[in-house]
Amino acid sequence: MLPALTGQSQEQISSFLKEAGEPAFRAGQIMEWIWKKKVTSIDAMTNLPAALRAKLSEHFRLGALEHTHTQGSHDTTRKFLFRLHDHRYVESVLIPANPALYGEKSDRRTLCVSSQVGCAYGCRFCASGLAGFTRNLDPSEIAGQVLSAEQLSGERVDNLVFMGMGEPLANLDNLLAAIGLITGEKSLHLGARHLTISTSGLVPKIRQLAEHPQQIRLAISLHGATDDVRNQIMPVNKKWPVAELFDALDYWNSRKNQKLTLEYILIQGVNDSLEQAAILARHARKLHAKVNLIPYNTVEGLDWKRPAVSHCRAFQDVLKNAGVSATLRLEKGHDIDAACGQLRLKQETQEGIIEAPVKQR
Ligand code: SAH
Ligand code: SF4
Repeated sequence: MLPALTGQSQEQISSFLKEAGEPAFRAGQIMEWIWKKKVTSIDAMTNLPAALRAKLSEHFRLGALEHTHTQGSHDTTRKFLFRLHDHRYVESVLIPANPALYGEKSDRRTLCVSSQVGCAYGCRFCASGLAGFTRNLDPSEIAGQVLSAEQLSGERVDNLVFMGMGEPLANLDNLLAAIGLITGEKSLHLGARHLTISTSGLVPKIRQLAEHPQQIRLAISLHGATDDVRNQIMPVNKKWPVAELFDALDYWNSRKNQKLTLEYILIQGVNDSLEQAAILARHARKLHAKVNLIPYNTVEGLDWKRPAVSHCRAFQDVLKNAGVSATLRLEKGHDIDAACGQLRLKQETQEGIIEAPVKQR
C-alpha cells in the first residue's frame, strides 16, 4: 500500500519533490492543503498542476482516517471511532474544558489520542489491554486523529493527551514523528506544552524522552504507591518497580521544568487505602508532582468498582493535608464508555475481529 501523505514531514515532502524535479515551494502548498485546509483528496489540491497531483497520487495516498461513528454524551464529550486501512479500529475522545484536570481556561478542548491498536501491557483494569496488542499506529494515524477531530467538530483542539488506547512510549519513534506534525508550524502548530504523554512506566523510554528538546508534559499511570499494590494490577511493575520508576522521574525533573502528573485510579478495595494515600503523598512531594485521582470507570467484562465519593474525598484529603496538589477528576463522558479502548473493543468484538474478552477477575 502507498504511504500516507498525512504522515510525511515537510522535509520528506520536499525531498520527494526534489527527486521528482518539482519546485521546492510546492512543499508548503501541499502541507497547507493537508493540515490547514484539511482536504479529503489529493485531487482537491487545486493550485497544484494536474501532472503533479497525478505524480503525488502515484506515490502516496492522502491517508485521511475513515470516520465510522461518533458517540456523544450530555456533557458534550464526544468519542470518535475511526476505521484504519487494515480494518482495525481506533478511537479518540474530544473533551470540553476540564479546568480541574488540566488547569486550563474554561473554553479549551482536549483530545484524548490513541497510540496503538490494543496494548501489550495488560493492566488488569483496562479495556485497552483486555484484547492484547495488535499493532503500532503510524505517524499519519496518530496525527490524523487530531486532524479528523478538528474536521468533524469544526473546532480547534487546544490540548492533547496521549491517554487513549495503547502505550505511547512503546511506540516512541512514531509518536515523536506525529508530534513533529502536531507541533509543526506548517502543520497543526500546537504548542508542545499543550501535549501530555501518559505512560504506565516504561523506564528506559522515560529517560529517552527526557532528552527530547520539546517541553512535552509527562503523566505517569501510577495507580499504586507500593510494589505490592502495583504488582497486583500492573504487570509492567514487575519489570520496572516503583523505585526504578521514581529514579527515572527524578531524572526527568532534572531535564524538564514542567510539573509531572501522577495519575491514580481509585479502585475499591484494591489501591484505595488511606495508607496508600499517605505513601503516594510522600512520593508526590519528593517529585513536586501533582496528583490526579480518577474514580474507576467500570469496564464491561471486569468486576472492578469505584469507591464511594466520600471515600475518594477522604483519599484526596490525605494528599491535600500533606501539601500535595490533588484533583479528583470531575466526571466526563462516563456514559459513553470514555475509558479509552471500550468503544473499539465493542466494535471489533461485534465484527468478530477479536473474541469477546475473558473476565480477568
Ligand atoms: N498506556 C498509557 C496511556 C493510555 S491509558 C498509560 O497507561 O498511561 C490512559 C489512562 O487511562 C491511564 O492512566 C489508565 O490507567 C487509565 N485507565 C485505563 N482504564 C481505566 C478505567 N477503566 N477507568 C479509569 N481510568 C482508566
Ligand atoms: Fe496499556 Fe495503559 Fe491500559 Fe495499561 S493502562 S493496559 S499500559 S493502555
